[in-house]
Amino acid sequence: MQPELILDARADLGEGPAWDASRGLLYWVDIHTGRLHTFDPSEEIDRWVHVGESLGCLAPRPVSLQTPGISLVIALNRGFMTFNLPSEQLVFLANPEPHLTRNRFNDGKCDPAGRFLAGTMDDAEKEASGSLYSYSPDGTLKTLLTGVRISNGLTWSPDYQTFYYIDTPTCLVTAFDYDLGTGNIANPRPVVNVPPKLGWPDGMTSDAEGMLWVAMWGGAKLTRWNPATGQLLEAIPVPAMNVTSCVFGGPDLTDLYITSARKRMSAEQLAKYPLSGGLFRIRTKMRGMPTFEFGA
Ligand code: CA
Repeated sequence: MQPELILDARADLGEGPAWDASRGLLYWVDIHTGRLHTFDPSEEIDRWVHVGESLGCLAPRPVSLQTPGISLVIALNRGFMTFNLPSEQLVFLANPEPHLTRNRFNDGKCDPAGRFLAGTMDDAEKEASGSLYSYSPDGTLKTLLTGVRISNGLTWSPDYQTFYYIDTPTCLVTAFDYDLGTGNIANPRPVVNVPPKLGWPDGMTSDAEGMLWVAMWGGAKLTRWNPATGQLLEAIPVPAMNVTSCVFGGPDLTDLYITSARKRMSAEQLAKYPLSGGLFRIRTKMRGMPTFEFGA
């Protein structure tokens, strides 16, 4: 399994890949530049729009008569919004942290019941001021976790009964019981302990076998883990120093899309990893978990 470069995007902080199965598109964000990217694999073309402020994450919304184009839920500094393309219309939904101006949104995605889960972090990466929120399409906003440093990861087991989460500086993947009916989490326990030599655990997805795919910030690799045993199953080199996240996409959910970043890299590091910030793809033989839609 070798990652191919599909877009030499040179993103500052490429993140949050999400596969829109209805429209056959991959979305991803460049957080600090506020760019929302749409990659169309059928044409191998990437288009982006500037949403105007730090853009943490997004999730697709179902195709409907009211939203014939692209419709998303996104997390901006000023809160959760719906966003449509090509109109670029933003509609405000909720703002969990109007009082925490030094925080920004980081990773997020929808749960299998259509709730939008998104986490925050201190943009300066100093305070444990982050939280993880769950926003339901009926307008209910819940705080699932507080005291988070860098909210990352986020995925579910194939039976949806386990939620996996990463607070990057802990070097752990933590599992919780997940109540799909209420969206509540309980019973945290570490399931993967990432050795420092592999890098920092960042974004995460899961496959149909229930294994976890974790992107390694600073580690130039993507890793696959068995959460039942904590065992590292695979470490796949990626020609980008900061590997940030991954998601399964394509018609059979077997194409693994990988985002990366070139934020704060030295000239020496950029010379060693010139493709950092690129978008990569691995054609795997495994089927991944779908990207869940907001309000589905
Ligand atoms: Ca991340």
